[in-house]
Amino acid sequence: MMNKVILHIDMDAFFAAIEELDHPEYRGQPIIVGADPKAGAGRGVVSTCNYKAREYGIHSAMPISRAYKLCPYAVYLSPRMSRYLEISQKIQAIFHEFTPIVEPLSIDEAFLDVTGCIRLFGEPITIAQQIKERIRQQTGLTASIGIAPSKFVAKIASDLEKPDGLVFVAPEKVLDFLWGLPISKMWGVGKKTETKLRLMGVDTIGKLAKFPRDQIVKRLGKSGLHFWSLANGIDDRDVEPIHQVKSVSLENTFSQDIDDEHRIENTIFSLADNVSRILRKKRLSGKTITLKIRLEDFSTFTRSQSLGSYIDSSEVISEISMQLYRKFNRDRKKVRLLGVAVGNLESGSHQQIELFGSPAPENKKIDRIIDMVQSKFGADTIKKASLINHYSRRLGNEDDERK
Ligand SMILES: [Mg+2]
Repeated sequence: MMNKVILHIDMDAFFAAIEELDHPEYRGQPIIVGADPKAGAGRGVVSTCNYKAREYGIHSAMPISRAYKLCPYAVYLSPRMSRYLEISQKIQAIFHEFTPIVEPLSIDEAFLDVTGCIRLFGEPITIAQQIKERIRQQTGLTASIGIAPSKFVAKIASDLEKPDGLVFVAPEKVLDFLWGLPISKMWGVGKKTETKLRLMGVDTIGKLAKFPRDQIVKRLGKSGLHFWSLANGIDDRDVEPIHQVKSVSLENTFSQDIDDEHRIENTIFSLADNVSRILRKKRLSGKTITLKIRLEDFSTFTRSQSLGSYIDSSEVISEISMQLYRKFNRDRKKVRLLGVAVGNLESGSHQQIELFGSPAPENKKIDRIIDMVQSKFGADTIKKASLINHYSRRLGNEDDERK
């Protein structure tokens, strides 16, 4: 399988940098964008500050009163969101010059999948340099870029040489790169989890990777499993453009690998039913149904089937997912993760009736009634008779993981 080339691009001190750009008279001074400090009595927090202000120990999300204590003579400014948005749009447009697969994370940050652009624009580092150069020309600002085969590693990499950084992590270097980093660099690990991990003697990503998996799960639950996988370089999340939803998918990672056919099938049914519900809620329907299976040894498989027409029905999605599963030979290995996705989407679901003839409208009607009741009274109030047998446990429990 070909490795993905993912860029994480993050503007440097974005709001403060724009203020410096627009107000040359502030250059060289500490600049703090955020709440009004009111001479130290202000409430609210620092939104962004420039690198000069960081020399005083000031950082984003710090109470503005604390920032004022550290540096009363800084330039304090309130945010001008419309100006920042204007520049954000320019930057987004630059991203789209290189690839359509852009996933914005915030006003000044995005993932880009440039795997398919190598032939057109050159090696990954060359692409990143070109993007940085375009941003500089078009806005006068600097960005930091991380390049890696996964989102997780790209995100960490972009932060390492800020400002104006460029860090490339080759696929074969991922574990070397990750394992020397302190645990605080794990994306998504908050202060609480960090403290827990440190008490367990885990102070680097490498130590987390080598910690016995079941021990991590026992102590940190499902999120522990997620962090453990990331620490081992396992992250197959795609860069997902927001404005064109390509598929609706749900996944379930089991807290322990499972072998029980009945439970596997129950899980596929409930995933399919929930994907169908999301489709209807978003007024989407799709032509391609994909089942994803990850086995105990982390080998991951997807099996897809495309239909002649667009569907959103729970029955059809469940049935096809089950067929795909029954055709799959897992070699008696246990199952670690299951996922169901419906892709090849379009808005509206009117075409479904044509293909599936008489049963479909009936099913559709029932699906909609269930949706209405559930959205009013919660997911457990009502389930279709044909599905009740397949539910062994409530949805939304510790085993369920939304992608
Ligand atoms: Mg930023």
